[in-house]
Amino acid sequence: MEIRKRLTLQFTVIVAVILFCAEFSVYIFSELRWREDFYTRLQNKAMAVTKLLLDVEGVNADILRLIEKNNLSTMPFEEIHIFDKSNEEVFSSRDSARLVIAPSVIAHIRGIGEYEYQQDEYTMVGFPYHSGTGQIVVVAGAIDIYGLRKLANLRNILIIVFLISLIILYISGRIYANRALRPILKVIDEVPAITESTLHLRVNEGNGRDEVARLAKTFNKMLARLENAFKVQQTFIANASHEIRTPLAHISGQLEVSLLKERSKEEYIRIIRSVLNDIISLGNTANRLLLLTLTNADSYHVPMAPIRIDDQLWEAKAELQKTHPDFKIQIRFKGNFEIDHYLTTVGNDQLLRIVFLNLMENGCKYSPDHQIEVVIEQVDSMIRIHFKDKGIGIPREEQELVYEPFYRAKNVHKQQGSGLGLSLVKQIMMLHGQSISLVSEPEKGTEFILHFSTTQG
Ligand code: ADP
Repeated sequence: MEIRKRLTLQFTVIVAVILFCAEFSVYIFSELRWREDFYTRLQNKAMAVTKLLLDVEGVNADILRLIEKNNLSTMPFEEIHIFDKSNEEVFSSRDSARLVIAPSVIAHIRGIGEYEYQQDEYTMVGFPYHSGTGQIVVVAGAIDIYGLRKLANLRNILIIVFLISLIILYISGRIYANRALRPILKVIDEVPAITESTLHLRVNEGNGRDEVARLAKTFNKMLARLENAFKVQQTFIANASHEIRTPLAHISGQLEVSLLKERSKEEYIRIIRSVLNDIISLGNTANRLLLLTLTNADSYHVPMAPIRIDDQLWEAKAELQKTHPDFKIQIRFKGNFEIDHYLTTVGNDQLLRIVFLNLMENGCKYSPDHQIEVVIEQVDSMIRIHFKDKGIGIPREEQELVYEPFYRAKNVHKQQGSGLGLSLVKQIMMLHGQSISLVSEPEKGTEFILHFSTTQG
């Protein structure tokens, strides 16, 4: 069921129940009051008649009946019956009485005193009265025609008021629900217009203060993030294709030129070497792109195990020196590492080796002396690995950007690279729940610091 209908119905039912209870109370209290009033009037009348009969000299039953017949204050269908101490009826206000008073009722009155009750449509009241001849019992009855009529009128009015109120309540509930939900409906109407090609659109934030406005703001923020992610993805794809197309163009250019004429053996070797380098760099770029995607999307499936950080550093160094024998990598420990736990972390050895290898390679690549110092330091239960070089450094305003895929600082000129290494490093560190920071000064050098929690922590 639509929220609008549900709100309308809930509102109508709640207010209708309250209204019904209020009307029911009014009816019940009115009935009680009128009944009480009728009892009192009937009792007073019966008492007056009894006193007239017993206490006023010269008044007997016949005269009294005559008086009663012409009495304007007589109540509708009024009958008064008086019984002596042996329960014999000594007076009846009507010649042809309709009411039959059961002896049990008379005995009951003698027992408890005043007694009010209903007999068919008659409202009855009975009470004992002490006269000179002993205890007599007076029973009076009348039909409360006016009271019943008034009650019936009241009941009809209340029912009509209730039904009209129900209709008014339903209509006003609908208007109220429509008004309350209008801002949400507006947002709902606006959302379908936002597609992948119109991610710059935003939904109306209304008055900016209420809950719907907050919902719209949150939605808009999410749209902004989505738009940003979309842009990043588009530039990523554009950059990736550029990175692949450039070496491919280079390769085909070189091969085409080499085919233009017959060349010497040395020239062919030089061209083949150059093409091979381009192919290796192309392979590296493709591998890194694949790794970037894998570590980002499929992080749950990366197997993790306790591994020795220093072992991986030595392996990375050996691997790097296979392709770059001129790189000088010095690994040293700072402090005392007698306990193995301090050097053990939970991670994926292959991925961590990629991290170490990239940082070592960058340090050597961007330093004229092709030298890097790797320092393993223990700080409480953490391990910090410093990769320090004395190279070209990274300009201050670009230090945050170097982790973006394909970003290369302005001061790299000759050195080849894809701009993917550091983004991969950062992503792998995040995948391990660890962090990376850097300190760098142009022309003086750069220091990347990896922060690892160890199994000791
Ligand atoms: P690249 O393939 O260009 O080396 P990276 O992602 O590894 O890509 O690095 C991104 C950029 O960060 C580099 O192009 C360079 O500008 C800068 N950079 C990384 N490491 C160093 C370093 N040790 N010294 C100076 N600049 C560095």
